[in-house]
Amino acid sequence: MAWGALVVFSGALTFGLMAAVAVFVGDAPDRQVSDVDDYLARTGQRCLAHVSDVDIEPPSAWRESWEPLTEEDCRPGSWLNQFREEGQNLHQYRAEQPNRVAEARALFVRPLGRIERPEAERLIEPVREFVELFFQRSTVLADGGPMPSEALAPERGDEGQYNADAVLEALVGTCPKGAGACLAMTDRDLYVPDLQYVFGLGHFHKRVGVFSTYRVHKPRRNPATGEREAVRDPEPLRRALKIAVHELGHELSLAHCVHYRHCVMAGTNSMAESDAGRLTLCPLDHGKLKWNLEYDPHRRFLELSSFARRHGLHPEARYWARMANAYPAHANASGAGGH
Ligand SMILES: [Zn+2]
Ligand SMILES: [Zn+2]
Repeated sequence: MAWGALVVFSGALTFGLMAAVAVFVGDAPDRQVSDVDDYLARTGQRCLAHVSDVDIEPPSAWRESWEPLTEEDCRPGSWLNQFREEGQNLHQYRAEQPNRVAEARALFVRPLGRIERPEAERLIEPVREFVELFFQRSTVLADGGPMPSEALAPERGDEGQYNADAVLEALVGTCPKGAGACLAMTDRDLYVPDLQYVFGLGHFHKRVGVFSTYRVHKPRRNPATGEREAVRDPEPLRRALKIAVHELGHELSLAHCVHYRHCVMAGTNSMAESDAGRLTLCPLDHGKLKWNLEYDPHRRFLELSSFARRHGLHPEARYWARMANAYPAHANASGAGGH
């Protein structure tokens, strides 16, 4: 089935295509941050003018950690500047008839083909465990079969790239019936037509997604000196986890976040923008996920904090520990803040 055909099914699939975390400028230097006037002059419209209203009231613990996006975030080169998305509040999410994952259903993490690079192979198990804690569902690590050869574009990039649309198309229908969703993992580079590369792609309703670890080990530019520098642990893991839960979020029908700054469900237009983002969900997306999965937030935050501590993700460990304290222990699924 062609993506073109999928797109016409529903507006929601537009988001499916927007699932890409994409880069237009490759490894070009970060562009100069400009101001809102520049944006307005160029486009004639306000970037966030059509964004839906937030329809939850975050408790104070959330408000201390999350700031709403403003027009200042629509800087040239950013995802927000490039794509006009309305976002998705809780009401819209529920109306979307999202993919709901009952407690008995597992999330499958499926390496595609052979993960050849040792540094990528080392990420598989932590990704699986993090998915389990983040979504509070059991996980299964299973062979995803070979990379679909028809998706390979050998002429692209240094080592060839795989068309993520074609990979996803090959995966549709392969997620086991009893699974909540399946996330394929590859260490090969992905792209979609018109974009230089993508980190991953997740389908809104068909329970399949794919993400690549190819770029998570790439050097980054030091914002102070402009020099490229190697990324050290735990940054490759942090990057991989961001992409994995972002794509799985799409598979649970979460749209890109256009409400809170640096939410892990935000679209990002470069690795620099992704690096600036957090590994955590904003209060709105947490509210949507909690409604869907009906988990105990206290337990989830405690488990995430423990994972983060073990893997050297210290800012996240502190944040999740704080959030765990903001929710009563043993809260039942419908309690704790009302969202
Ligand atoms: Zn996305
Ligand atoms: Zn969000």
